[in-house]
Amino acid sequence: VSEQRIALVTGANKGIGRATAEQLAALGMTVVVGAREPRRGEETAAALRAAGGDAHPVTLDVTDQETARAAAERVEERFGRLDVLVNNAGITGSGQVAPQDAVDQVPSSVDLVMVRAVFETNVLGVIAVTNALLPLLRRSPAPRIVNLSSHAASLTISADPDGPLAALPASAAYTPSKAALNAVTVQYANELRKDGVLVNAVAPGYVATDINDHRGFLTPAQGAAAVVRLATLPSDGPTGGFFDADGPVPW
Ligand code: NDP
Repeated sequence: VSEQRIALVTGANKGIGRATAEQLAALGMTVVVGAREPRRGEETAAALRAAGGDAHPVTLDVTDQETARAAAERVEERFGRLDVLVNNAGITGSGQVAPQDAVDQVPSSVDLVMVRAVFETNVLGVIAVTNALLPLLRRSPAPRIVNLSSHAASLTISADPDGPLAALPASAAYTPSKAALNAVTVQYANELRKDGVLVNAVAPGYVATDINDHRGFLTPAQGAAAVVRLATLPSDGPTGGFFDADGPVPW
């Protein structure tokens, strides 16, 4: 088995996913750039290579199991295994509107079509992609899975009427989808603990990207740092946890 680490990032063509891909490449990993739109994936991989990294685009729409299966096949043919999976792709369901402003997400008037679409991407998409790639992760000497969650997913924080998220409009779509993703993360960690696969959820902080019309106060690189830390955990590192840049986040 070669020492070269192979990482796949979903939604790696922009935002936090792209910054994560850049940082993993800068650490010397081979990065598989997942993008649902092939041209965007190719452009991102070319930019990473121009910066000295080893990057390869792969078409991957997390809501399309066939593309996940095909992406796994491409990774297997080319590299034979996968060491790191970053489940980054995500949507709010509100287009360019920040979760904070997503009045269309309030439980009493939410559109179920949007709720389904958000869960399809943020929860079922993670399960589909993880299961497609798990056989390749099991061939890694040190497999890691990182799921992009959010502080909003913390029931402890959001149930506190005096807490820092109390001012946010209630959401029946994005916020519960990330709480469900946290639950899924714990279940994968429990199943895979005996196999040495470390599975964790990360809250990147409020990062200026398209998802919130660039209203976040962190740069994508700052948000990606917490992701990269969990993607590069030592073998005695945690599994089944929820972390931000400062450490554990309450469930
Ligand atoms: P962006 O909107 O900048 O990037 C989202 C990425 O996900 C894009 O590459 C997008 O692809 C991709 N994507 C969306 N749907 C799919 C799909 N079905 N299949 C494949 N890729 C898809 O957002 P961020 O970088 O901010 O968000 C990244 C992750 O971080 C998300 O999971 C988000 O929920 C989470 N997060 C972000 C926070 C923030 O403040 N920014 C805070 C907390 C969590 P395309 O370009 O084709 O649309």
